[in-house]
Amino acid sequence: MFSRIVSTLLLGVFAVSAAHAADEVVVYSARAEQLIKPMFDAFTKETGVPVKFITDKEGPLMERLRAEGPNTPADLLLTVDAGNLWQAANAGLLKPVQSKVLDANIPAHLKDPDNQWFGLSIRARTIVYNTKKLKPADLTTYEDLASPKWKGKLCLRTSKKVYNQSLVAMMIAEKGEAETEKIVNGWVSNLATDVFPDDTKLMEAIAVGQCDVGIVNTYYYGRLIEKKPNLPLALFWPNQKNSGVHVNVSGAGVVKHSKNEKGAVQLLEWFSSENGQRMFADLNMEYPANPSYKPDPVVASWGEFKHNLINVAKAGELQAAAVRLMDRARYK
Ligand code: FE
Repeated sequence: MFSRIVSTLLLGVFAVSAAHAADEVVVYSARAEQLIKPMFDAFTKETGVPVKFITDKEGPLMERLRAEGPNTPADLLLTVDAGNLWQAANAGLLKPVQSKVLDANIPAHLKDPDNQWFGLSIRARTIVYNTKKLKPADLTTYEDLASPKWKGKLCLRTSKKVYNQSLVAMMIAEKGEAETEKIVNGWVSNLATDVFPDDTKLMEAIAVGQCDVGIVNTYYYGRLIEKKPNLPLALFWPNQKNSGVHVNVSGAGVVKHSKNEKGAVQLLEWFSSENGQRMFADLNMEYPANPSYKPDPVVASWGEFKHNLINVAKAGELQAAAVRLMDRARYK
């Protein structure tokens, strides 16, 4: 029965990717097709190496890698959030790779200390506010959003989303559990309304005045403002006098049972190079992970900011603790 399930899964993969040709790279991607297809096309054009891919949510992709084991056609797992990348490494689905190019291009805090995955673009999770109600001087830190002055004025996305789990995990890494729990309790008691299923709905609520302030990934702000430039919303960079803005990554790691590790590393290295970085960051209004390159002009117009430099692997290591803490705080 089990082998029948596995062979059905495999058939499914081969239907999409065909057999694994010697020189091609097969990517399992939790990043959406419109964000990755143009990069793979550019990589193939530059190097002659063909890329095949499937897209799905990270959970099913990891499940698939686990079920396929040594028979997997996948060479590279591409996903958002260090929490997810850490889970994949922790489940034994990835392998460490040594690459001087990646060592030089990707800062140490944006990759796995054991080189099992590499952050390739930076996403900043920062404060967004209603410009009719607040001035930048009213805002300071993530921690401050727990103070009683924000009672009934804060909107948050659900704690079920890995982005918030990573944010809280990184706070635990920095401040410890007791201090972080006080902050999360404060946030919950300041909520203006139920938590939101996504960052965009949260910003729309701020724009109509349901609340004054919230926490979002900047690319959602970029997408929304591109469509509705007149919304009274602005980004604020918190914690500039101490730890910096919470940053996370989109990234990738070589699959443990890859049949084309050389090609997979070549693709990773290309992602970290100038052309790769441009596309990886710009197609989704994120920040390049390679500090040699500037963000796209629209993204740059939101201003420069100090990043939190704690290794993003902590988002994975402390994810379970963060989830338990948010449960205790009744953060839904
Ligand atoms: Fe997102």
